[in-house]
Amino acid sequence: MEEKYVDVAIIGSGSAGLYALSKVRPSGKSWVLINGGEPGTTCARVGCMPSKALIQVAEDYHRRTVLGRYGVDGHQALDLDIPTAMIHVQDLRDIFVDRVISNSTDDMGDEFVQGYARFLAPDLLEIDDGRRIRARRIVIATGSRPVVPKAWRDFGERLITTDDVFEQSDLPRTLAVIGMGTIGLELGQSLHRLGVQITGFDQLDTLGGAQDPEVCACIQETLGTEFPIHLGHPVEIDAEPDGRLRVSGGSVTVIVDKVLAAIGRVPNLECMGLEHLGCALDPRGVPLFNRHTMQVGDLPVFLAGDVSGERLVLHEAGDEGRIAGHNAMSEEIQGFRRKTPLFINFCDPNICIVGTRYNELDPATTAIGQIRLAPVGRALIMGKNRGIIRVYAERASGRLLGAEMITPKGENLAHLLAWGIQQGLTVGELLRMPFYHPVIEEALQAALYDLYSKVETKNPGDITELVPL
Ligand SMILES: Cc1cc2nc3c(=O)[nH]c(=O)nc-3n(C[C@H](O)[C@H](O)[C@H](O)COP(=O)(O)OP(=O)(O)OC[C@H]3O[C@@H](n4cnc5c(N)ncnc54)[C@H](O)[C@@H]3O)c2cc1C
Repeated sequence: MEEKYVDVAIIGSGSAGLYALSKVRPSGKSWVLINGGEPGTTCARVGCMPSKALIQVAEDYHRRTVLGRYGVDGHQALDLDIPTAMIHVQDLRDIFVDRVISNSTDDMGDEFVQGYARFLAPDLLEIDDGRRIRARRIVIATGSRPVVPKAWRDFGERLITTDDVFEQSDLPRTLAVIGMGTIGLELGQSLHRLGVQITGFDQLDTLGGAQDPEVCACIQETLGTEFPIHLGHPVEIDAEPDGRLRVSGGSVTVIVDKVLAAIGRVPNLECMGLEHLGCALDPRGVPLFNRHTMQVGDLPVFLAGDVSGERLVLHEAGDEGRIAGHNAMSEEIQGFRRKTPLFINFCDPNICIVGTRYNELDPATTAIGQIRLAPVGRALIMGKNRGIIRVYAERASGRLLGAEMITPKGENLAHLLAWGIQQGLTVGELLRMPFYHPVIEEALQAALYDLYSKVETKNPGDITELVPL
């Protein structure tokens, strides 16, 4: 069997694979980029971009519900044509996909190999059409896919995932969303706002990826007034004689037209011949790897992106791709610092998680500050004064550790906090920064004041004192 030889083979032309290539390509090494399935990245095709397009439509349409307060006449009569809305989402999605493809794989010749790859040895791949590629270094950037339990596959088109939802030309009248994590909440709320009767279920007692009990309670209180959310019970689905689906969780049963399964994502690793790597796997079947080098054991193999199963977000896929790409084209393996964790859920209000996770904090050494959004002036003006911001710091030093929040403009506040944490700032140092009036950042300022009152290290100039030249 004839083999092609290259310095670096990258498996997967998603975001992580393309970022890996951005490091390998300028190095002058020979390479191939192998992709099975649709090119164009999960982010652009079925992830970040179409979901944010749908959320935008839903938010704009939902805004009509406050217009009556200002005396805007006729707002009750506003109506949304769902097929047109879905075409709009699909048009935007196509623009993003076209942009990715035309800037990446479109101009590649033989270096772009279409097909699914599997390992025959740590330096040898076989493509599903029989071609073989031997490479000095290999990057696995094969992404992830939605989990669908085997028994649920029998429900055919009545059971959809994020791979299908943006493809719909019309929306069902009733839908159960199973899984109230980031994706389930974002889509559940948007589809509810577009007029679908939504029921949310999750077997956990937490939602939106949050761990802080105060934040979880506030999420349920805030979003649970929009559509029913049932937590704490595993869900069962059965087919009704009329073709609809009966969804039960605990004592709650609903009959719906369709179910959206949003119960998590699984790394695309099966059928990849990992047994030929001879490496240890974690309980999810992911090869053990170093998160600072992305190297699998001491093999010439690197992981990047969702397939690593660590932080399933775009900017982390980008960083992991760059780290894996750098090490795949270098003689020496180099470790790189990882960024402060930052997760944003774009439901309204935004749910954000920054820095050290709540469950990892040591209650004995951690101070917590908080503010509820109810009295915050700017939030009141926006008609969005619901939510809570909780910020965590090391009690002794005042060093900021993390935060969880559900708040309007959380996407912006979470960035400020992530940047502060990554810079190693204390809560006092953050409070020395300017805060304009009236802005949502003032809510963060109030949470930080509360936190400051509970930390032990205070320096002149931290709050109201002027800082001497
Ligand atoms: C609905 C939704 C909303 C999201 N919203 C956000 C958001 O707002 N912000 C954010 O940061 N993140 C968001 N994400 C997550 C983000 O999209 C992913 O983290 C990111 O796209 C992962 O990129 P990747 O390169 O790891 O995988 P992918 O882009 O999936 O690339 C993997 C590629 O590998 C190919 N492949 C698989 N197996 C093989 C094989 N054996 N051989 C060859 N090729 C193979 C696949 O077909 C695919 O083309 C969202 C995800 C979803 C589903």
